[in-house]
Amino acid sequence: MARLPPYQFGIWLAEYLYNRCQLCHIQRSMSHANIASASTASTAKPTFALFNSGLLCEHCQHSISWLPDPFSVDIASNLALPIQAATFYDYPIRQAFRSFKHSEDITKLPLLVHVLRQLPRPTGCNGSNSVIVPMPTTDNRLRQRGFDPVTILSSYLAKHWQIPLWRGVVRIDSTVSQQGLTRSERLANLDDAFRVTELPPVKRLLLFDDIATTGASLQALARALYETVDAQYGTNTSSDSANTNSHNHRFYAYALAHGSN
Ligand SMILES: [Zn+2]
Repeated sequence: MARLPPYQFGIWLAEYLYNRCQLCHIQRSMSHANIASASTASTAKPTFALFNSGLLCEHCQHSISWLPDPFSVDIASNLALPIQAATFYDYPIRQAFRSFKHSEDITKLPLLVHVLRQLPRPTGCNGSNSVIVPMPTTDNRLRQRGFDPVTILSSYLAKHWQIPLWRGVVRIDSTVSQQGLTRSERLANLDDAFRVTELPPVKRLLLFDDIATTGASLQALARALYETVDAQYGTNTSSDSANTNSHNHRFYAYALAHGSN
């Protein structure tokens, strides 16, 4: 936890010095209603909330739908992977994420970090029993540029949850981009797309991707991990409820946003 996430200094500036909403750029300490009344009566004084922990004003915070219902994909028979996103992949998050990812627009990062912080730390998970498994980069162009949104965002999630990152999975290069494929094409494309290079150090694996659409990438990543630990620790058939198995590894998945490409 000693290393700071990339661009941490900029996040601090946005949080503590630039006292304006990351979306509408109105002073966070003033509500939209206050501004309307201030312009007519000029009696309402803005109160400066220097340590306002959010990066959005109240109005923008309430205008976004947070924490859509989780959805599930299967990892194995009797084992499901619940996927929880922080919000929907819609305006304004979609536009912000796209300019961050494709144009390296760092000014969008505080908003995206704010979105991530809406994800509550999973119950029972902490820094000693869990790791975050970032989705290995899917995009060759991004890798060549050395700019990987998942790496940057997952380091902020690690800080937010106080749970370390673990990078024991690599992506095998031959797979092509998932964008524009149907669900079955995505799954076929993802077969054997990941290689687990070491055994996970803990039993609670919190998978993270930036945008989850069908969940196919997270599903394939979870399956690769499951097959590895299952081969190592073996299976017995005494079936418990969903998301448990004989070696008691638990798989959860999280995303910045849920939606379509
Ligand atoms: Zn605002």
